[in-house]
This record gives sequence, C-alpha cells and structure tokens, in this order.
Amino acid sequence: MMNRIAVLAVQGAFIEHEKKLDRLGVPCLELRQRSDLNRDFAGLILPGGESTVQGKLLQDLGMLNPLRERIRSGLPVLATCAGLILLAEHLCNDEHVWFGTLPVTVRRNAYGRQLGSFHTEAQFAGLGRVPMTFIRAPYVETVGSGVEILATVEDTIVAVRSGRQTGLSFHPELDSDNRIHECFLRECTAPV
Ligand code: GLN
Repeated sequence: MMNRIAVLAVQGAFIEHEKKLDRLGVPCLELRQRSDLNRDFAGLILPGGESTVQGKLLQDLGMLNPLRERIRSGLPVLATCAGLILLAEHLCNDEHVWFGTLPVTVRRNAYGRQLGSFHTEAQFAGLGRVPMTFIRAPYVETVGSGVEILATVEDTIVAVRSGRQTGLSFHPELDSDNRIHECFLRECTAPV
C-alpha cells in the first residue's frame, strides 16, 4: 500500500484535498498537533485558507520548525494558495516569512478585489491544459535560482517547482481533474 500523505489540518480547505486523496485511493493523515509529526508520511499537502492564521497556529503548536526541517531534508510538498504563501522565502506585501523554504517572492491577494476569484484553464508543464480555480489567490512575482516555472496565467506565475516543493496559486483539489495530485503522488513514491 502506498505510504500515507499528511495534510495540514489546522485551518482552511484541507477536507477537499483529503477527498481528492480518498478518490485516488491514498490514505491520509491529518496534521493537527505536534505529536502527529511522529507518524509516518511520505509527502505533505499545505491547503488553501488564511496563511497568517495557519502560520501562527503552526508556530503556536510547535510544528513550524520541525516541518521546515522535514521540507529542507526533501519531504515532497504540494502547496496550494495559502500553502504557497507559507512556503515562500519572501512576501512582497506582507512582513511574515513562515517556512521560507521556496526561493520565490509571492504577492498575497494578488489579483485584486474584482478578480478575487475566477476560473480558467492554462498550460501546465508536462500535463497540457489543466483547469485552475483561483480564490483570493497569490501569485509568484519573482523566482530564485533553480525554480522551475510550471504555469502562467496572463503573464503571472501561478505554479512553480523547486526540488520536491511544488507551489500553486490555484486549487486543483476543487476541480475534478486529478493530474496534479497524481503527479505529486508519483513524486512521493519516487526514490530520492
Ligand atoms: N488570501 C489568502 C491568504 O493570503 C489565500 C487564499 C486561499 O488560500 N484561497 O492567505
């Protein structure tokens, strides 16, 4: 049986990722408290939600530093929306840095009020066109060295990869297309 995937479950849209994993036949483990980190998992999903709330909870629960170490040591991560904000090394419109493991600069709530939420379809590296749902989404403003750009929407960077970290502005868990999760699951079982 495939190893479990951990889903950060302190706040936000984690249920949708769990449902997606369930549909793909993959067991998941909710990370709610520090002791959950002692259980075995092969990859980590950081869901959408409110990044400031998630970051503070991670800090208060004593999970931020141990998870950062795991990510630095090569734990595969799929981060959506607020999760991308948590991974970013820099935020251009917020003073916080949470994990700070992904060498990119991210802009929070980047599409403004009018375009706060929208749905589109765009080319994704290696997958072809994929549906993309954006909800008060961030985008990547600049990438550091070694960061691969996986998708852009109207000249904004909405998906990146660096090592085993994948960061997305949008919410693949909200669409019926499974390819992004499937790709991530392959990465979780690939030898380092
Ligand atoms: N706007 C949220 C933030 O800045 C992210 C939105 C989302 O995760 N859907 O944290």
